[in-house]
Amino acid sequence: MATFDVIVVGLGAMGSSAAYHLARRDVRVLGLEAFDIPHDQGSYHGVNRIFRLAYYEHPSYVPLMSRALELWRELEEVFGERLVFVTGSVDAGPPGSEVFEGSVESCRLHDLPHEVLGSSDLSHRFPGFHLPADHMAVFQPDGGFLASERCVVAHIMEAQRLGATVHAREPVRDWSLLPGGGVRVVTDRATYEAGTVVFTAGSWLGKLVGELEPLAVAERQVLGWFQPRDPAVFSPDRFPVFNLEVEEGRYYGFGIFRVPGFKLGRYHHLGETTDPDRVDRTVRSADEEVLRACLRRYFPAADGPTLSLKTCLFTNSPDEHFIIDRLSDEVLVAGGFSGHGFKFASVVGEILAELATEGDTRHDVGLFRLARFRSGLETSGTEEHQGGTRVESEAGDDVGGVVQNP
Ligand SMILES: Cc1cc2nc3c(=O)[nH]c(=O)nc-3n(C[C@H](O)[C@H](O)[C@H](O)COP(=O)(O)OP(=O)(O)OC[C@H]3O[C@@H](n4cnc5c(N)ncnc54)[C@H](O)[C@@H]3O)c2cc1C
Repeated sequence: MATFDVIVVGLGAMGSSAAYHLARRDVRVLGLEAFDIPHDQGSYHGVNRIFRLAYYEHPSYVPLMSRALELWRELEEVFGERLVFVTGSVDAGPPGSEVFEGSVESCRLHDLPHEVLGSSDLSHRFPGFHLPADHMAVFQPDGGFLASERCVVAHIMEAQRLGATVHAREPVRDWSLLPGGGVRVVTDRATYEAGTVVFTAGSWLGKLVGELEPLAVAERQVLGWFQPRDPAVFSPDRFPVFNLEVEEGRYYGFGIFRVPGFKLGRYHHLGETTDPDRVDRTVRSADEEVLRACLRRYFPAADGPTLSLKTCLFTNSPDEHFIIDRLSDEVLVAGGFSGHGFKFASVVGEILAELATEGDTRHDVGLFRLARFRSGLETSGTEEHQGGTRVESEAGDDVGGVVQNP
């Protein structure tokens, strides 16, 4: 039986980074991925992901973002390909909205350069925006986006270069703690043992670690790319990434990059929680309409023909803060990234590698501990951590301890 120091289960945003940071520390690491590398069934596909320093969700994220950016820059250096694209970020909404006020507060608290713009100033500066007259915006010049699929590829290829073993199309079906310490991980192809297992399975986390099932819930999203009348207005050197809170919901978007069209999404799209193995990947007119409604009213210059529509998955925790913690000496988990995790993947990999090798991390991860949910969660002792959840197969049979991943 093949043995490793650490097995990483799930090589998406977080797992690819964990594998890389473990390999950097000369750890014998095995990474197991259910699908291809890269793939479009999880949470990181669709070309790019926003990063922003004006983080209104919680001040804890700002220092992590700074370190994450340092690590992304290091990765582009060793990988020899540009991964980080600075466009500036806009956070806009009516006065009093969380997105606008939180962003201003975060900039002030962390002394970030920023400008507060009224709606007409914003349109003057970036003609793609057409917000109601009373709306306000924060422009923070250091935000931008990451080429997310390439980031995953970069982490994996650099991990391999440093000696990591990587297997794709090999979903983990079951796992258990070994009586003398360590962990056993079972796939359709083989059984492996290691001192530590790191679960970074995104929307499938709750299927592998049963007690996390209510804490990391998959939600269907749809992203759209649309043809602008004047593409130059939406080129990334002239159009910033944005978060927009309006009465129709909270939207985010990007200028044109690598594939045709202005890219737009709505947080929590139609509010459809789902089983990641059964998610409806067909895009319907109702999916397109929530994006069109935003285009028509707030970005009329981009309200042209549809160029692409894709489904994707959020994995939401109850408070939308991340879950990064240790379940036992041998088991680490990172999940519930709630639609805002990609930008932190580089530093999350570093955190997981530190936890796996040193038992602790230099980063402040207090906000992400499972203890905050503990009253509703029985995770004391180790017996509960034996093996995956019992889940039903497509045919409805109880297939016990087996994860129904492809
Ligand atoms: C539409 C959309 C837009 C987003 N926009 C942003 C943004 O602008 N900025 C931002 O910071 N974040 C954004 N996010 C969130 C970000 O992409 C996610 O938080 C991040 O990808 C989560 O990383 P993860 O590693 O937990 O999951 P994933 O990246 O999905 O990786 C999990 C991996 O585990 C694998 N896996 C699952 N089960 C098994 C198994 N049994 N065995 C082996 N492998 C397994 C999966 O196949 C997958 O590859 C967005 C997400 C979506 C869906």
